[in-house]
Amino acid sequence: MVDVLIEEKDFMCPCCGTIISMLLELGHGGQRYVEDCEICCSPITISYQVDDVGLSDFLVKPAQQ
Ligand SMILES: [Zn+2]
Repeated sequence: MVDVLIEEKDFMCPCCGTIISMLLELGHGGQRYVEDCEICCSPITISYQVDDVGLSDFLVKPAQQ
């Protein structure tokens, strides 16, 4: 089975405070990447782990430039 689960996650942008939602891939045991906020266009570092029960350790913070 190589199905990749997708979960929609709502979170608050650490730069502008707007609630934004993003689709997360849960199939790789966790990821870390930089995504631009769709409202204020600031780069945000998104990191999370995926374990047996699903998404865990979800963290967002302003990306260092
Ligand atoms: Zn923002």
